[in-house]
Amino acid sequence: MAAFTTDETAKIKQALEQRQRQLIEEIRDELASSGEQHYIDLAGRVTDLADESVADLIADMDAAMVDRQVIEVREIEAASARLAAGDFGSCVDCGADIPLARLLAYPTAVRCTACQAVHEKTYAHAGNPSL
Ligand SMILES: [Zn+2]
Repeated sequence: MAAFTTDETAKIKQALEQRQRQLIEEIRDELASSGEQHYIDLAGRVTDLADESVADLIADMDAAMVDRQVIEVREIEAASARLAAGDFGSCVDCGADIPLARLLAYPTAVRCTACQAVHEKTYAHAGNPSL
């Protein structure tokens, strides 16, 4: 794990929470504008879940509809768990410390910029979402 000060850890945590809230908002809006009562009801429930795991709720949704946001919410949950476990901020490919600025901009990043570029090139045709 990259060595973070308490202050840096707090900032990363804040960035993760901020992004998660933003995604939950997006999911809620998408559900609310779907015009289907089932989803509008779900959207109402999402509002109450702001800081909790939305995994169960999401499991109840049409995956294709909120796919991108759902994937990112899960990435945020995984990143929060890594941060709590002290296993955060190192590139999964080369092991180098990921710069703090990148982590604050993309708190779910698991690769340094160089490895991410290689990864995207490698998987460009697989249609995987990337940072
Ligand atoms: Zn790397």
